[in-house]
Amino acid sequence: MELKPKILVLYTGGTIGMVKSESGTYVPFSLEGLLGCIPEINALGVDLHLESFKIPLDSALIGPGEWLEIVNVIKNNYDLVDGFVVLHGTDTMAYTSSALSFMLRGIHKPVVLTGAQVPIYESDSDGISNFINALKIARDGVVREVSLWFHETLFKGACVTKFDSKDFNGFSSPNHSHLAKKGSKIIYNKHAFLKGNIERNFFKKINSKVKFLNLLPSVNKQIEAKVIQENSIQGIVLSIFGSGTVPLVQNDPVFLALKNKKLPILAVTECYKGGLEIGKYEAGSVLNELGVISGQKMTKEAALTKLIVATSNFESTEKINSYLSKNQVGEL
Ligand code: ASP
Repeated sequence: MELKPKILVLYTGGTIGMVKSESGTYVPFSLEGLLGCIPEINALGVDLHLESFKIPLDSALIGPGEWLEIVNVIKNNYDLVDGFVVLHGTDTMAYTSSALSFMLRGIHKPVVLTGAQVPIYESDSDGISNFINALKIARDGVVREVSLWFHETLFKGACVTKFDSKDFNGFSSPNHSHLAKKGSKIIYNKHAFLKGNIERNFFKKINSKVKFLNLLPSVNKQIEAKVIQENSIQGIVLSIFGSGTVPLVQNDPVFLALKNKKLPILAVTECYKGGLEIGKYEAGSVLNELGVISGQKMTKEAALTKLIVATSNFESTEKINSYLSKNQVGEL
């Protein structure tokens, strides 16, 4: 008898499994209820193993602690199953897929995150097709890295962002190629797969002592300088304009606070697409003086989670900076 691929489904919450509460707001429901709505799963030829967060969450409430919980479920079941599907709310799914990409680097098994814009219990839901396709991808085992399936596309886990809060086509990879696309069948794009024999090395620690500093035209430099000086921040993601300019001059309070603290600083562009080219404009030259590392084509989600993983697992600024400047999972 042919053995069916074993797939672990982890339900963390999100719209895909939500129902309307008495007050009319959407709240997460159970995994069993959700699976009961999808008889098509029986035809997929997979042996399903089910796990669920004790209390399924809206993804607005998912952060570093929950990323570690997901990593632990995957680690504990690594040798028991062939692949993983993580059902997740869409609001922060790109943060979780980025965090998991860094934390599970070298996993060599499929980890596919997916969710829905409309609950599975509603007639016009995108949840059934997203779930079924994510299971097919985990079953096929062609893509052995962290990925995110949405609508008709499989994205690299650390290269994806939510760009539409309503449309079924809600996610994109502005600067990176997709891993697979669905027409009449799923077509894989092997050029985008992670290359090389990356050693499996799961990160175990996670904290969130980093700050996301958005240098917008109205930024209050006194307030921001005080926040940087007076707190035990371990690193900063600096969101900056265009290809790499900032409203900072030498000797203004934010510049001085950053210079004194000598923190690892990772920059990303606030633009949706195109990435950074620091050094092109004079208005970005202070960034070099601060030793800012260019996030190149990284999404804000990848930058934030890469910095969190680095500052949680390495002690010295030198090691953190070296990790940040190198391509880890195709994110740069
Ligand atoms: N608020 C929901 C969540 O992120 C939205 C969704 O799942 O689409 O959990």
